[in-house]
Amino acid sequence: MNKKMQFVLFIASLNCIAQSLFIPKEFQDAYDNGTRSPEGRPGYYYWQNKSEYDIDITILPDSSLLRGSEKIIYYNNSPDTLKWIVIRLYQNVNRPGNQRDYLYEEKDLSKGVVITSLKINGKEYNNRDKEIEDTGTNLIIKKQKIPPGKKTDISVSWEFTFPKINIMRMGQYDINVFFAAYWYPQIAVYDDIDGWDLQEYKGNTEFYNDFNDYNVKITVPNIYGVWATGDLMNADKIYSTKVYERYLSAQSSDKVIQVIGDDDISNKTQLYNSSSQVNTWIFIASGAPDFTFGTSSGYIWDARSVYDGVKNVIVSTVYNSPYKTPFNVCDESAQSVEMFSHVLPGIPFPYNKITLFNGGDGMESPMMVNMEWVNDHSWALYTYVHEIAHTYFPFYMGINERKYAWMDEGWAQMLSEYPEYALDTAVDFRSWNVQRYLRNAGTLDDAPIMTASYNLAENAYDHVSYFKACVAYNMLKELLNTRKTGLFKQALQEYMLRWNGRHPIPYDFFFTFDDIAGEDLGWFWRPWFFEVGAPDLSIDSVYNEGGMYHILVENDGSMPMPVVLTLWHDDNKSAVFTFPVDVWKDGKDSEWFICMPELQAGESEYFDIKKITLGTKYIPDTDTTDNVWKKK
Ligand SMILES: [Zn+2]
Repeated sequence: MNKKMQFVLFIASLNCIAQSLFIPKEFQDAYDNGTRSPEGRPGYYYWQNKSEYDIDITILPDSSLLRGSEKIIYYNNSPDTLKWIVIRLYQNVNRPGNQRDYLYEEKDLSKGVVITSLKINGKEYNNRDKEIEDTGTNLIIKKQKIPPGKKTDISVSWEFTFPKINIMRMGQYDINVFFAAYWYPQIAVYDDIDGWDLQEYKGNTEFYNDFNDYNVKITVPNIYGVWATGDLMNADKIYSTKVYERYLSAQSSDKVIQVIGDDDISNKTQLYNSSSQVNTWIFIASGAPDFTFGTSSGYIWDARSVYDGVKNVIVSTVYNSPYKTPFNVCDESAQSVEMFSHVLPGIPFPYNKITLFNGGDGMESPMMVNMEWVNDHSWALYTYVHEIAHTYFPFYMGINERKYAWMDEGWAQMLSEYPEYALDTAVDFRSWNVQRYLRNAGTLDDAPIMTASYNLAENAYDHVSYFKACVAYNMLKELLNTRKTGLFKQALQEYMLRWNGRHPIPYDFFFTFDDIAGEDLGWFWRPWFFEVGAPDLSIDSVYNEGGMYHILVENDGSMPMPVVLTLWHDDNKSAVFTFPVDVWKDGKDSEWFICMPELQAGESEYFDIKKITLGTKYIPDTDTTDNVWKKK
């Protein structure tokens, strides 16, 4: 460590809260090197790499083929000389012999990504070269030398066949419907924690990408429309006059406009430029963590705009007319964008557009959602609100979901609870998330949240990343908001602003919340994020002394949670007493609570309590049989 760095760390340590959490080695190195700071900010020496992609592709619907070429400029902003380049070839997951998290139908397997040309700084490579290692879904090109602060040029030509049955996040959904995600040769992330990300794509792993610039040209037959990440640069030349006018009016309309309607499809109206057999659509996106698109020749397109506080966001839904739902997906998606922007997280929507494309699955990507259209309102809502929430995590924040899936799935679950309930009260998803957590809480699948996601398989992965993390975030919200109204939102926003466009690790989250709360919350982080345990409170004993009810509550499961006691005079009259999460701060396993019901209710008859219950539907409890006390 040099003198300057010692000084920076010394200054940083004066400002930050003493930390009591164990820090694994790969993270400790980042603090020692000053790439991250102990109060949860990017460090003085923080860096990240990026790529510029110039991609030119053609979709050949008759042969289900995507054929493309790309030029990548990769910038090494790290202090290291890179000796490898790692290129992700996601679609190799469809190659016979590759590792997969799920059973794939053999007849739908393919050659994966067929590279027809690969050049690095002008030097041509082929797969027989000794420098090339094909590990499955990664292509490692060794014997490189990219010094700190330098860039390298990579050119690739490739093609692959869209899967039709094994459609994980992407594929051919109908004879004229394609969605492309995880589709172009992509430079893997090289970061200050793990160096090159060498994880294989086996189907379950999701995002970890740098923030890149994209210039993408997509050529399709002239009856196909394309909806994609980024801004369409040649809309005026591609759309017919009628479509173009509707497209423009949707950009300032808070009512849903049918840019392409049923009758356009049934009358076979020419919707796009027909001066050539094919059209080339040009999209540009800067600072985006990925690029995806959907294309179809027969889809309806609804669109409206919504104001997020600083700009209009265009919300589109693109779908097959038989899948028309009895509710308005476009309008409700716009309303959820509005709620995310103004309520929680309360940060303007990160993009100027979002398009929900009716492919299959329920899968987010920047500015795009690939969605199965379902007719049950609550469950349709559950999927699209969740996928839209992902715009914040992992896209506004560049989360490494391959290692810390809970840092994005948990937030997508938690942030969605409010819009979901505002748009449909039939299912209370906050309570549902608690029930889903309880399904596995206290089992061996209930691993500590701080388990690397690649070490968790199916059930444990879903349990930990989605439901346990969601409940833990809600407990954190309870904890902070009882300290000071709005403290949780303040800390969340600060964390998001510090790490927007960057790659936060779990400790950046813990330390930022400690920093804003003004204390070491290790006593809360440990049981909820680092240790095994289950949520289980119980009423041990009760006595009444002059109208003051003394209630002994045991924390049998070690998780700190709020204590909510309801004292019942009769079936209709009750008084509720809430004690904050802090009561478990010292790690004790039982505590006396004193409640005076007649003071709260203002009626002396409350003196006589028949029943006491513990908990609410928002507080998880693995055993509720011991949460009731009845007067004998
Ligand atoms: Zn998700």
